Amino acid sequence: MKKHFFRRTFAIYFLVLLVSIIFIERYATNIVRTTYINELKESLTVQAILIADNIPLQQKDELDNLCRRFHQMTGARVSVISPEGTVIGDSHIESPVIGNHADKPEIKQAAIDGTGYSLRFSNTSRLDLLYTARKIERDGKLSAFIRLALPLEDINKSINALRIKINLAVILLLLMSGALLTWQTDRIRIYVSKVSDYAGALSHGLFRKRLYLKGAGEFSELAESLNEMAGELESTIKERNEKTNRLSVVLKSIPDALLLINTSNIIELSNNAARELFGNIHLEGQSYIEIVKSPDFASLINTVKQDRMPGSVDIVLNFPKEHYLSVRVSPLSYQVGELSGFIAIFHDTTQIKKLEKMRKDFVANVSHELKTPVTSIKGFAETLLDGALADKEHAEQFLRTISSQSDRLNRLVEDLLTLSRIEMGVIKINKKTLKLKDLIDRALKTFVVQADKKNFHLRNSIINENITINADPDRLEQILLNLLDNAIKFTESGVIEAGADHEGEHKYFYIKDTGSGIPEEYLSRVGERFFRVDPSRSRELGGTGLGLAIVKHIVLAHQWQMKVESKVGRGTIVKIFYL
Ligand code: ADP
Repeated sequence: MKKHFFRRTFAIYFLVLLVSIIFIERYATNIVRTTYINELKESLTVQAILIADNIPLQQKDELDNLCRRFHQMTGARVSVISPEGTVIGDSHIESPVIGNHADKPEIKQAAIDGTGYSLRFSNTSRLDLLYTARKIERDGKLSAFIRLALPLEDINKSINALRIKINLAVILLLLMSGALLTWQTDRIRIYVSKVSDYAGALSHGLFRKRLYLKGAGEFSELAESLNEMAGELESTIKERNEKTNRLSVVLKSIPDALLLINTSNIIELSNNAARELFGNIHLEGQSYIEIVKSPDFASLINTVKQDRMPGSVDIVLNFPKEHYLSVRVSPLSYQVGELSGFIAIFHDTTQIKKLEKMRKDFVANVSHELKTPVTSIKGFAETLLDGALADKEHAEQFLRTISSQSDRLNRLVEDLLTLSRIEMGVIKINKKTLKLKDLIDRALKTFVVQADKKNFHLRNSIINENITINADPDRLEQILLNLLDNAIKFTESGVIEAGADHEGEHKYFYIKDTGSGIPEEYLSRVGERFFRVDPSRSRELGGTGLGLAIVKHIVLAHQWQMKVESKVGRGTIVKIFYL
């Protein structure tokens, strides 16, 4: 396309040049020829006038010789013609041989004007000749015509020489101007192609590139304008990109899931939280109905579409995971008065719901746990007041029950307080380097009497006295006591062992028993507040249902981990990973 344009321009220039040069050549040669002929006419006329006066018309026999002499002097063919047109003297041919000349144009014109001219091809000499005829008058009477004829061979020769010169000059000029034109059009082509390449680069977003065209006249100005334009485009696009980036960062960092839905129910934009919420799939381009599977949400969208007012609804999503969500939908309009779509923000309330449930369960559990001993204490106290005090034997038994229920109440309150203190951070963890063997020995001693009552052994499997642990001494003791208390409660015979070991690089201490064990389905719940496999048996054994919850909290406060492994009828091992 580009090349075609330049080839055409070149052809037009060349054609114009050729036509004008041909015209100049024709014009110049024509002028030269006319001038030359005119000068020749004048000179022949003068010669004819001079000869005319010296022609002895009476000596007819001498006329041919005379004519020859004049020919030698002038170089022209000289003829003397009678008024009737008969050639009576000629420098070239014997005069009687020549036919009548009365009708020759130069003779006719000379008869009228005195002098006549004619330019024509002569059959006699087979050349182009200029004829000049002059009237000879003697005594006021037409006596003859003198005619001089000169071949135009010379003029033709000099015109041809001129033409050759002009043509040579023209060819030289054509070559020079062609070369100049080629050079110039090539320069222009290079500039145009540079400009077009640059424009191409700009269209591909390479706004940093600059175009330098030195000494290229208007092209340099064009390059400067393009550079300026690129600079402006670069800053505009940079600004726009920054805005878009900022927007996308803001969108990404919004913790709530966000969907931008158009009026055809198609999701146009989503953030990371939304992708996570809906199962890590690509949401853009999908219908929201396929993604947010909630009739309540769909009806909220319809309401917002009708009312053009924001609205909210609480929904539950069951896929991919159960989620409680508080959704707010706002209408979106890019142009005034026109609904362009909706923005839906999904606030995840699952955790709040869970906490609420935990709080309710906790209150119910605490009330339930407190109710039993309080009812029992109240019942026995009333019985005593109603007269049982007098019955000494029963009164003592009742008072013992009241005392043991009070102990139970006390334990419960103590455990609850410990838990809430750890949770609220009131109990601080002051870590010290402690010898694990000593600590376990001391804890085991507390249970010696109870172990004797039942049929099992207490064993500390740590031999190395130098095994140390970095822990808060009081809290670690509490962990050991709680775990040993459970082991003893749920073991009838066998061995209760405390020790230390490691799994790969991870070190742990453990309490292991050969007791009733915990069914596998409950293992994940062990450590929840008030969770017991068998609540009534736990209560019977004096348990509050908070022992492992306390252990779990202390473990977390030390940034350790607890793992419970158990087999029903075979026993339980609780491992505390401390490194
Ligand atoms: P409890 O006061 O009932 O012992 P815990 O929180 O200490 O409360 O224990 C919760 C429940 O976990 C217990 O009721 C029991 O069912 C189970 N459990 C804990 N330790 C053991 C163990 N060593 N052997 C069998 N069951 C256990």
